[in-house]
Amino acid sequence: MQPTNLTIQEIHQLLITKQLSSVELTQATLQRIRDIDPKIKSYVTVSEELAIEQARQADERIAKGENVTPLTGIPFSMKDCISTRDVRTTCSSKILENYVPQYNATVTNKLADSGAVLVGKTNMDEFGMGSSCENSALFNTHNPWDLERVPGGSSGGAAASMSASLCSFSIGEDTGGSVRMPAGFTNVTGIKPTYGRVSRYGLIALASSFDCIGPMTRDAYDCATVLEHIAGHDPHDSTTYNSPVPNYTASINKSVKGMKLGIPKEYFVAGMEAGVESAMQEAIRTYEKLGMEIHEVSLPHTKYGLPVYYLLLFAEASANLARMDGTRFGLSVSDGAKDVIDIYLKTRHEGFGDEVKRRIMLGAYALSAGYYDAYYLKAQKVRTLLRRDFETAFSKVDILLAPTCPTTAFKLGEKISDPLEMYLSDIYVVATNPAGVPALALPAGFSNDMPVGMQLIGKHLDEQTLFQVAYAYQQVTDWHKQFPNL
Ligand code: GLN
Repeated sequence: MQPTNLTIQEIHQLLITKQLSSVELTQATLQRIRDIDPKIKSYVTVSEELAIEQARQADERIAKGENVTPLTGIPFSMKDCISTRDVRTTCSSKILENYVPQYNATVTNKLADSGAVLVGKTNMDEFGMGSSCENSALFNTHNPWDLERVPGGSSGGAAASMSASLCSFSIGEDTGGSVRMPAGFTNVTGIKPTYGRVSRYGLIALASSFDCIGPMTRDAYDCATVLEHIAGHDPHDSTTYNSPVPNYTASINKSVKGMKLGIPKEYFVAGMEAGVESAMQEAIRTYEKLGMEIHEVSLPHTKYGLPVYYLLLFAEASANLARMDGTRFGLSVSDGAKDVIDIYLKTRHEGFGDEVKRRIMLGAYALSAGYYDAYYLKAQKVRTLLRRDFETAFSKVDILLAPTCPTTAFKLGEKISDPLEMYLSDIYVVATNPAGVPALALPAGFSNDMPVGMQLIGKHLDEQTLFQVAYAYQQVTDWHKQFPNL
């Protein structure tokens, strides 16, 4: 068995029984990156020296039996919008191409404390804006299941690195589907936790009221393990919950018998690829066999999900990206500049890609005097309706099931010249972020040889149920155990 294909749980057993060392595993991972990543291109930066050093320290911890956690010695990759001290953090943008943070994100610190090994930073759509990774200003990432197809986005590099076994878990970020959609396209399990469950300190913001950091893993058990280690209150982020983080893995194998599974009827409409539809029907039957009660539910404001999400995202992103002005960090274009305003303009003109500029302009427009009430305020009101849709549904059922995307991974170049087409591929994943509820994506089969993703949506702070229901499915299916042929 190739060690890079193993789950965290399996590796942990090998590490603590000294059948494998973290240095050996990390070296095998780095070698695989050298061999395979030139065709996938999931990594922006490989932090080889740091990884070997962290692996050596992990082996020491294991040898002494001190402070050993389930993540000690496990190699992981991380989306390039999460700050890593002394390791370049680019957001896959020209404007931050050479930016090296002076501090760690809280998540980076928590993973370092647990003894995990950072092997590198992964490619993404610039600042998280996109659904295919093609908006990266650096290069395209390829889907390990078909190199001519996209890995999804915006955490496409994280998903591809996981799917191609170039790490043992990955950390992504989800503002409007960026963990779930690429997880679905590449046969990976991933969670967008409840907003505020994981600290955003050190995450380079896209839309601050939507952004959630979440793990991508081989299965639900690993996903629960990583979330346990990165979640929790953070004095640096006042939007984090104060409540203790449950021990998700402890009761993950509880039976799902008698639980109520809701099928939102607005998500099962025309336009879904036939193979995706049949995979969902098959999954529903599987849950029925496991003893769950199936109920149709309605999320009546679903059709407003995309416009509300995009309008609010543009507005928040336009404000957040104002800090990239060439005077503080990152790119600064001052050649021939008349004054400081000219530096701002030249830097932003050169540093930002088309999609980023498009969103900044639309966001600034929606927030401008005279238009604020008609667009931003209206969207905030409809956001409340989206949240209430979920509350009403969860007064009747325990959990919801839906696809992550109407199709499987599309071809590189297929949608890039039509931004609206690209936005439409987010139709099933965007409503959860304005509502703040958690959602977990997991492999649910194949359509035309490409992975199909399913998502489970839960109540606020009820990640426990998501893990339990995903785990039950993975005990009786083996989609998540399939690897691409590389
Ligand atoms: N497709 C979404 C967008 O383009 C993804 C955002 C995200 O989750 N980072 O906005």
